[in-house]
Amino acid sequence: MPEKNTFQVLLYYRYCAIADPEAFAAAHRQLCTRLELRGRILIAAEGVNGAVSGTVAATEAYMEALRQDSQLDGIEFKVDPAEGHVFPKLSIKVRDEVVTLGLEKVAEPDINPNELTAPRLSPKQWKAAIEAGDAILLDGRNNYETQLGRFRDAVCPDVDNFRDFPQWIRDNMADLKDRKILTYCTGGIRCEKLSGFLLREGFTNVAQLHGGIINYGKDDTARGQYFDGQCYVFDQRIGVEINRSEDRTIVSRCVYCQRPSARYLNCRNTACNDQFFLCESCEQTHGRFCERGCSTNTLRPLGQQALA
Ligand SMILES: [Zn+2]
Ligand SMILES: [Zn+2]
Repeated sequence: MPEKNTFQVLLYYRYCAIADPEAFAAAHRQLCTRLELRGRILIAAEGVNGAVSGTVAATEAYMEALRQDSQLDGIEFKVDPAEGHVFPKLSIKVRDEVVTLGLEKVAEPDINPNELTAPRLSPKQWKAAIEAGDAILLDGRNNYETQLGRFRDAVCPDVDNFRDFPQWIRDNMADLKDRKILTYCTGGIRCEKLSGFLLREGFTNVAQLHGGIINYGKDDTARGQYFDGQCYVFDQRIGVEINRSEDRTIVSRCVYCQRPSARYLNCRNTACNDQFFLCESCEQTHGRFCERGCSTNTLRPLGQQALA
């Protein structure tokens, strides 16, 4: 067994021109395999987006290798200590986009997210902008993420997928185009696109949180203040603590008894596999099944967690 915190988890993205995504992916697979990294990496002509875990030495070597790549000039990493791998395996995929926001490609094929995006606020500026009290915070993540934690009083669109944002915004925010809108997401990548979309829609005063929630939690000035609950992450940790400045809060509620619970589990019905909150006492009563009437279909072995 690895000793405590001899591993690290890296989160990163970079919008940049990748000349040959397939060749880049092949070379990247060799690098990651040699370093015994695990995680998920998306590669596209518009950039890269990854989350990986590995030993401290391996992840440091990986960051150095990526920093040496002139195509990725300026890449930044969020680094978290870990007690072991947080991903079950390595997955590297070539995609059309490193993050999908539906209509973009058809309507405006030449948009470069590095050019068409809102100003980025540092954690310190973001905290001050919240304290100014005149802004609407817009959460750029999906509903199953915002349920575990979010900035206090943020608007959290009820969408399952990032590509549903444009329609949701048109349906729900059309009369807010002159308000100050502050967008945030886990690591910042989605807001590069979401904030650009808002500008094109005619919103006049938009800014985004640079480095996302993860960076905000690490910053020693902001110390995660005003973030309630945990930040959802796409690995085996499920959630990470952000707020180091106020008492810990739980914003999610057990689907059965409605008491606060941050136990975020997958329904044992493999045909359902809904991710839901379940307190320990209600698990005794209902088993590890979601509230939608799931019971004894095909069962997932206890302890085995599928990732969203
Ligand atoms: Zn309960
Ligand atoms: Zn279910």
